[in-house]
Formats: sequence, structure tokens, C-alpha cells
Amino acid sequence: MQPLDIVIYSVVLMSVILACAQHVICEPSDGLAEVPLIKKVINLIGFLAAGFSLLGSPMILGDVKGSILGILVVAMIAVAGIAGKLRRSRAPQSEKTPIPEDAISSHKPDPTLGWCGNCKAHTLPGDTVVTMHNGEVEGVTTSYRTICCGYCQARMLWNVPSEIQTTTNWTLGSALVVGLVTALSWTAFALWKHLGGLMIGLVSVPILIGVLAMLIWFLFLRWQWCKWLSQHPQTADE
Ligand SMILES: [Zn+2]
Repeated sequence: MQPLDIVIYSVVLMSVILACAQHVICEPSDGLAEVPLIKKVINLIGFLAAGFSLLGSPMILGDVKGSILGILVVAMIAVAGIAGKLRRSRAPQSEKTPIPEDAISSHKPDPTLGWCGNCKAHTLPGDTVVTMHNGEVEGVTTSYRTICCGYCQARMLWNVPSEIQTTTNWTLGSALVVGLVTALSWTAFALWKHLGGLMIGLVSVPILIGVLAMLIWFLFLRWQWCKWLSQHPQTADE
């Protein structure tokens, strides 16, 4: 990596991270006139940086480094989009209707019981049928049953906290191993033009992004659970 490459990487990634963080954290404003200038500027810079990483960076950084930057930016935007959607979708529901008693397995926090991040409660498990439409063949659908929250039917947010903790540790370990392999193979290619390094590097980057996305998701589930746990101490029994 040349000093210029590092500068471009840092500027682009920081701009996109800032805009993504704003998207996830800040509440959307009702009217366009109410959006503060700083928010508009952050959005514009993030948008320009993302556009540059996808269209202009291969010309300046070269195909390989430009593509990596593009992949990183797309991955971040995807994660921010999902996180923002989840945040907004569950915000109104958690304040309104109380969850009926027969849907709750325990009021006392218990990491070995299923817990729903949408209901913010130990809800009983249910199951739902997921149908996937095959875009290429008309009319062909695949469906499968999957476990979900028995009350709100949330699939992704219903989890067993103790299992998530174990899975998070495994994912963290895998991320470190894949990250190390990625770093070593790209170093081997950068220093000695080792083609094997390039091959392994190209394969390991998408795997690394996948593992990191999973890790972020599991950490988000753990964060939700820990936040709830701090509001409902273990001793609070009824
Ligand atoms: Zn639920």
C-alpha cells in the first residue's frame, strides 16, 4: 500500500462509516426542511465517497485495491441498511400493547430460555413457514419451517442468549483466523508477488466480510440482551 492509497482508503471509509452511523443512530426527520445542515453534509460526503469507491477508485487505486474498497463500502451500506430498518421497525411496537401472559415463558432473566429482541421478553417459541420465490423459474417456490418468536413471529431477533454467547465466541475466533489468513496472503502478494497469496486473498475477502457481518449481528443480539438484563436484575423474581 502506498501512502496515497492509505489516505484514500481512510477518507472514503471514514466518510461512509459516518454517514452509515448517522443513518442507524439518528431518527429520521419528518420534513426535509428540519434536517440540520450537518446531517445533510455528512450524507452528501458519504454518498460521494461511496460513489467514488464504486466508480472512480479502480482507476486511481488499481483494479484489486479499488474492488476491495468497493466491496467494503457495499458491505457497510448493507449492514447499516439492515440495522436502520430493524431499529425503526421495532421502535413503535415495544411501547404499545403489553405481551399477553400466555406468550411469556419467564419474567425472570434466564440465559438458557428463548428471548425475543423485538418483544424484549422471554417469549415462548413458535414456528413459521418461510417461502422463497425462485426468480428464474416462474411459479417455483421453496418453503421451510423455522423457529421464531411465538408472539411477534420475529425470526432473526428470537434467540437463546447462552447459545448466542457461545456462537459469538466461535465467530470471533473464526474472524481472527480468516482475518490473519487474509492479511498474510495479501502481504505475500504485495511483497513477493506470490500468486498463491493473491488467490487465497481473493477467496478469503468475501469470507471475511461474511464472518464479520455475522459477528456484528451476534454482537447486536448480545447487546440487546445485556441491555435488557441490566434493566431486569437476576434477583427480580415474582
Ligand atoms: Zn417477539
